[in-house]
This record gives sequence, structure tokens and C-alpha cells, in this order.
Amino acid sequence: MHDVTILNGIVVTGIRTEVLDLAIDAGSISEVGPAGTLGGARQEIDATDLYVLPGAVDAHFHCRAPSHPERGTFASETKAAAAGGVTTVLEMPVSDPPCSTPAVLRSRRDLGERECHVDFGLFAGAAVNPSVAHEMVAAGAIGFKLFTHRPPPDRVAEFSGLWAESEDGIYSALETVALTGLPCTVHAENQSLIERFESLQTQDPRSSRPPVIEAAAISLLGVVSRYTGARVHIAHMSSGAAVEALVAASPTARLTGETCPHYMIFNEEQIEEFGSMVKVAPPLRTAEDNKALWDAVATGAIEVIASDHAPFTPADKAVPYGSAPRGIPGVETMVPVVLDAVNRGVLTLERAVNALSENPARIFGLYPKKGALREGSDADVALWNPTAENTLTLKSFQSRSGGSAIAYDGMVLKGRLRRTLLRGITVFN
Ligand SMILES: [Zn+2]
Repeated sequence: MHDVTILNGIVVTGIRTEVLDLAIDAGSISEVGPAGTLGGARQEIDATDLYVLPGAVDAHFHCRAPSHPERGTFASETKAAAAGGVTTVLEMPVSDPPCSTPAVLRSRRDLGERECHVDFGLFAGAAVNPSVAHEMVAAGAIGFKLFTHRPPPDRVAEFSGLWAESEDGIYSALETVALTGLPCTVHAENQSLIERFESLQTQDPRSSRPPVIEAAAISLLGVVSRYTGARVHIAHMSSGAAVEALVAASPTARLTGETCPHYMIFNEEQIEEFGSMVKVAPPLRTAEDNKALWDAVATGAIEVIASDHAPFTPADKAVPYGSAPRGIPGVETMVPVVLDAVNRGVLTLERAVNALSENPARIFGLYPKKGALREGSDADVALWNPTAENTLTLKSFQSRSGGSAIAYDGMVLKGRLRRTLLRGITVFN
């Protein structure tokens, strides 16, 4: 007698996609077999005509806890994750105080263990000395995070130990990271080019931070990755220019890349319509960039789709574009947006699962416990009805900052989440 069986679903295991049954015992997948072959269970879940996917591993997530509970907490934002088919979140180190000391990492870990509705990992700041880096790894860091630009003047306290703008500073940080063997997610924007374009004082938000800023930073990171041996994961790529820089650097560097749904479906039209509510960093680009990013995910040039879930309240965002904070909620819309694209034939289902689950799990050392539905994997499972229509409304958002997701309001997507299980326990239904 199994604990749980999931019967007759269209299962994407990471090896094959076919109609299969899954058995779950003690929180893990214990058996995968043809429909009708696995025997009885205390709980049987009928998944006929549903996609049975490994829960998504969101490699770029911010809740910032314990600072700014009005924007979101580990509890509220991981509840949103479960409601979006995401079963692991990798939380960025931006907080007050920031996660760049072992003490802060341990206290955030304890807070996350008390509050999170899904599994989580914690990034550590990369601009630290080697002994601090090693201590943070010993305390359980999943990877490091580096910004290659200066923090906004009003948020300096949240970024201490997280950034380096000079070639020397970037090299030192990645040299330290290389000693640990863990990957480093890098926010790649070149500081001196940011200043150059800001000094032109254009009123047009689209030209104040053009793609060359991102591409130049990625090219440098390719070289530094090669010579330090650090594994560098480029965060939230927003443009075709960024993809070109990544592909050009890839033959010799240890680089992987990530993009986010908002860079794939939104562009300057949404800046026109929603202004500061869709301000993100790097900024939204053009329809051609949207297409370049979908193509890069389809070919595997970009390996990961992550949310960069960055909750700010509607009041935080309702200020002029120039002074608005950068970030939008996205953890509960990420998988729905990608599955809708699968329905439209933009991506294969297998490629979508690679980008949302398997590849982030591999890059951050969680595979095949996470990111796969194989015997021995954690039973982190999302059941999706692939043909049901889902109309997004602000009221349906679980994130405490869901009111800022106005660009998603009224969007009709094909594909609807039916149930999320975390280590065999239903956490969304
Ligand atoms: Zn981010």
C-alpha cells in the first residue's frame, strides 16, 4: 500500500513523456510505471488528461524577509509560489540586513524553515572575503549573488556585500566564489555605461538603459569566468543583445543564462501603458527582443526561466518612472505563461520543463532530488489541466504585492493548475 498514487496522467519525467502512474512513499517518488500497474494507495489522485510535471524550481526569487513584510513574507510569497506550481524557490540575498554574513544567512534560514510553504534555498552575497564565503557555504548557501552595478542610493543598506562595479572588484568576487565550487548568479549591467546613458538625461525610459549595458557586462563576465574558473549564471536576460553576448562567450566560459516571463511577453508597449508599475531592471525591451528570448529558450541557448519575483506594493510603485523601485511580482504567473506558450507551439513541453525545473535544479546542485519525476526524486509535483482557460485577475494573486501585477490583469492563458504537491503533501488544490 503506497502513501499516494497519481494515476493516468501525462507525465514528463525528464527522460520521457507518456501516460504513466506515479507512486509516492515517505515524500519521494517510489515507483513510475505504466497506468494500472502500481497497486493501491491510501490517497489516489486521478490525473487523467492532466500534465503531471515536476514542480518548478524558481532560481530567482525575492521576498526580502524579514524586511518589508508589507510587500511580502516567506509565508505569503511561498504560498503564491505553491499557487503557481513552484515547489522550490531560491531566495536572493537582498534584505536589510543583506544576506552577506553567516549570521544573517543562519537567521534567514531559520525564518524560512518556520514560514515557507515550499522548499527554499538561500543565496549569499559574493562580494565578501573567502573565509566568510566558506562559512556561508557551511551554513547552507545554495549559491552566490553579485550585482555588477551600484545599488540605488536609497537602498545601499540592503546591498552591502552583494555588489562590485570595477573589473578588479568583479574578478575578486568571482575568484572567491570559484574557491567554493558553487555557482554565482550575476545581475549583469555595466556601471560606467549606466552612468553614460543616465548622464544624457533622456526622458524616455526605453533609451536610458539600453541593451549594450547588459551585453557589455556579460562579455566581461565571460572572460572573468574563464580565468577565475567561477560558474557564472547570468540573471534575468532581457534582450537579443544579451543572448548574443552569452552565446559568444559560451565556448570558453562557464556561463549559463536565465530569462523571465516579463521579458518574454512584455515590452515598451507595456511601459507606455503601465509606466512605473512595469519598471524592472534591466528594463522591458522590444517585441524583437521578446522573440529573441523565446527562440533562445527553444534552442537551449538560455537554459533557465526564472520569475525574478520582486514584490513592491502598489503604493511603492505609484511614483514617477525615474524614482520607482525596480521589480514586479511573477512567481505565480511564471509557469502559466510558459505553458500557454507550449499550447501555442512556441516551445515543446519538454523544453519548458527543462527550463523551469530540470536545468535550474542541475545548475544549483539539486538534481535529481528536485527537477525530475524519477524514482528517488522528491515528490514535488504540479498537476495542470493543459486545455482549461485561466483568466488572471488582480484578486486571484496570492502575493501580498499582487496589486502591482496590473500588466497581467485580464490576461487569458490556456492551462490551469489543479494541484501542487510538496514531498507528497498537497500544498495547493
Ligand atoms: Zn532579482
